[in-house]
Amino acid sequence: KKEAAEEQPAMMAQAPILTVTEVKVNVSMPEAAKKAAATGADGVGLLRTEHMMLTSGVHPKKFINDGKEDELIKILVENVLKVADEFYPKPVWYRTLDAPTDEFISLEGGEGEPYEHNPMLGWRGIRRELDEPEILRAEFKAIKKLHEQGYTNIGIMIPLVQHPDELRRAKQIAEEVGLKPQKNIEFGIMVETPGAALIIEDFIAEGLDFVSFGTNDLTQYTLAIDRNNENVAKLYSEGHPAVLKLLVRVIKICNEAGVKTSICGQAGSMPKIVEKLVEAGIESVSANTDAVATVRETVARVEKKLVLKAARKMMSE
Ligand code: PEP
Ligand code: MG
Repeated sequence: KKEAAEEQPAMMAQAPILTVTEVKVNVSMPEAAKKAAATGADGVGLLRTEHMMLTSGVHPKKFINDGKEDELIKILVENVLKVADEFYPKPVWYRTLDAPTDEFISLEGGEGEPYEHNPMLGWRGIRRELDEPEILRAEFKAIKKLHEQGYTNIGIMIPLVQHPDELRRAKQIAEEVGLKPQKNIEFGIMVETPGAALIIEDFIAEGLDFVSFGTNDLTQYTLAIDRNNENVAKLYSEGHPAVLKLLVRVIKICNEAGVKTSICGQAGSMPKIVEKLVEAGIESVSANTDAVATVRETVARVEKKLVLKAARKMMSE
């Protein structure tokens, strides 16, 4: 068997496609980190937290109420470690908990979740975490532990912000547990409300390292189309000119201010939109595992086109 294998012509190793714009990957389940890393992605542009909490079977707030913050921190450390280790030293942006009230209701201790007529516009993301800072604090403590173990590749990303005050308060809580946002840990926000996109200058003034577009939410809020409502699903489009206008606006302003831009919504896996974002000057794109290769090809093609265009322009001057 060995001989037969040796007779085979050596497989041509495919050279990796190099791009200036980074191509990252989204991770929702830590168990999938190995497969995600095997894509050769430049990091994790979105590490979702919700799955880690759901698989514990217990509502995060129950740990706190029962005086078991340590257990919650342990679960987070174990899960985030799997991803941070798989990608080290490439960056992993940990997104703090973003659970709509209707999703965690079935967990042990979740029976007290309030009924909301419109959960997507309700008590979720950073707005909820600032009302229940014990959970946010536990998340930050877990990240701090991992940082102390050498996993300094982990950054923090805050979901659903609509006012710079939310960023300020989140940074303050991070500082209270001993993290130093923008100094020893990357700290950024998701731009997924039109409000945040329209006043991005004010978030930059508050201080942040990066923004990442959550186009799943940004599309639903910009177009007033519930992303979970099949009656209006045909109108839902990340490529809508109003959504694109917001994205391009934010990229331009962030580039001028030296703030990194990225995308981690589903649109980051769509070649047509990725093309527009690379042309606008986005710094990284985070795609689903199965879309990383295609997105990287798209990025490389657009970059080549842009360089040629610039070179021709220079030579004709
Ligand atoms: C988004 O809104 O685009 C996003 C990435 O966050 P989620 O899908 O988890 O709301
Ligand atoms: Mg979102």
